[in-house]
Amino acid sequence: MASNRTFTMLKPDAVEAGHIGAILNKINEAGFRIVAMEMTQLSTQDAQAFYEVHKERPFYGELVEYMTSGPIVAAILEKDNAVEDFRKLIGATNPAEAAEGTIRKLYATSISANAVHGSDSDENAAIEGAFYFGKRAQF
Ligand code: ATP
Ligand code: MG
Repeated sequence: MASNRTFTMLKPDAVEAGHIGAILNKINEAGFRIVAMEMTQLSTQDAQAFYEVHKERPFYGELVEYMTSGPIVAAILEKDNAVEDFRKLIGATNPAEAAEGTIRKLYATSISANAVHGSDSDENAAIEGAFYFGKRAQF
């Protein structure tokens, strides 16, 4: 059965550009409930651990540097079919390929500065949510 939770980060480009409010509004309008949220800045160690799956990719160094370049907003979101529906709401990794109306189409500037993260599976949603919020008992 699909889990009803996913994990997101509003990335440094979106925070820097002042899009936190607009993006959270789209998330709420799409029917997601925010169950945990924190604004923070990742350390290099945090970003390396979070994106460990990409460590052999050519863009890994750039990705870690970018994700530590400014504050981010991390959140756990709840909705039926959360992982799949949130991936639809954010759109393709490359904003140039993202569908009209998606968060990346509206707010991302490039494939690396692409405004928002969304978990790609129920398993990763649970791992990523715990990475941020696991120390607090209810999450
Ligand atoms: P995310 O995991 O952030 O939700 P995604 O699942 O759409 O994004 P992934 O393939 O998991 O895409 O890549 C993780 C992140 O790495 C992307 O969001 C983007 O910031 C960066 N990235 C991916 N491909 C490239 C690339 N070719 N060049 C530069 N950065 C990239
Ligand atoms: Mg991904």
